Amino acid sequence: MLIPCLACESRFGPDEYFNACSDYNRGLDLVSWTCPRCGNRDDLRVLPGELGFGYPSRGRFDVHDRLRVPGLRRQRGDLRLDISLDRARWQVRTRIRQPA
Ligand SMILES: [Zn+2]
Repeated sequence: MLIPCLACESRFGPDEYFNACSDYNRGLDLVSWTCPRCGNRDDLRVLPGELGFGYPSRGRFDVHDRLRVPGLRRQRGDLRLDISLDRARWQVRTRIRQPA
């Protein structure tokens, strides 16, 4: 299963793709993703069996596009999101924002 960048259409294996996730936002339930190839940044929601792409607006995240990823699972933690697919696991941590 290869997962495409929606900007440059490069395709990535799950390991490369999920390692490019950063900064889990628990409130909006989304992670940031930066394309290793073109540098495009997307917000996405990891859902059971699919990825949801969309935009944060008015304090929520609206999913506009869904990409099926059979077998994808997630576990929400306080300061991290655990993602698993088949036997592989990835952990996306919440970036702690320091007061200015
Ligand atoms: Zn890209």
